[in-house]
Amino acid sequence: VEYEAVDLRAALQNAINLMETVWKPDEIKLDFQDLGTPVFVKGDLIRLEQVFVNLLRNAVDAMDKQSEKKIFVCLRQIDHCAIVIVEDSGPGINPQNLDQIFDPFFTTKEVGEGVGLGLSISYGIIKDFGGNIRVENAAKSGARFVIEFEAVLNRD
Ligand code: ADP
Ligand code: MG
Repeated sequence: VEYEAVDLRAALQNAINLMETVWKPDEIKLDFQDLGTPVFVKGDLIRLEQVFVNLLRNAVDAMDKQSEKKIFVCLRQIDHCAIVIVEDSGPGINPQNLDQIFDPFFTTKEVGEGVGLGLSISYGIIKDFGGNIRVENAAKSGARFVIEFEAVLNRD
């Protein structure tokens, strides 16, 4: 499938805007760092938004019991490489679960709170677009999702 060039910055901003309508005012401190310019990759805007909404939703869920909830989102383009980082200040992922969290139906949430499909669907979407998604625990605390794509340098 040949996909259109879509702007990751727009997809991230749309996902953030959507999530901000469901957060209580000042509930979450979100820091979005980008370079102020679009970053084009081959993909589909709606499906990229879906991935970012999934990641933001999971971050909020993970920080449920915390008074201070922080999300850090970063978009960078280094030559041919577009990188998105979504990191939270939650407890991180149990190291025993790190290699399962992209599996369909893997969830640590209560019945009715999660069906464990968000990350497996997100993984499939990113792979479809030729990208890669991985997770690690940040040095301080919290989960860090790193997504890498090949950036489109010449749009025509
Ligand atoms: P669901 O949200 O329905 O549980 P997901 O596929 O979105 O399904 O996530 C699978 C599991 O990965 C979660 O149940 C949780 O254990 C873990 N997880 C995902 N994101 C985070 C995060 N930001 N912090 C901690 N754990 C996470
Ligand atoms: Mg989820």
